[in-house]
Amino acid sequence: MKIGIRAHIDSAHCIPHHQTCNEMHGHTYTVELTLEGEKGKGDMVMDFMELKKILGEVLEGYDHKTLNDIIDIPTCENLTENIREKLEKKIDMPFTLRVWEGKNKWVEM
Ligand SMILES: [Zn+2]
Repeated sequence: MKIGIRAHIDSAHCIPHHQTCNEMHGHTYTVELTLEGEKGKGDMVMDFMELKKILGEVLEGYDHKTLNDIIDIPTCENLTENIREKLEKKIDMPFTLRVWEGKNKWVEM
């Protein structure tokens, strides 16, 4: 069974030497977290409230921040990897993380 939640962050970044992203600018990132597991306590895979809390705590570190202060080269790939590492410390079941940069581009891992 799969369950998922979605959250948004607004962050600034620039990617040195990139053709279009080399100037500092911002994106709204949509973060989709999907868990896979069996129903457990309370007939839930995980309580949505708990999941929302975990994701919120992790994303606080990125929302309204300059991603270059956190990640050397803040591509969407590196951002996804960075968020995933933090979630892995808090979630002990298989999950998929998809991060949208703007409306039309995403990275999943
Ligand atoms: Zn950009």
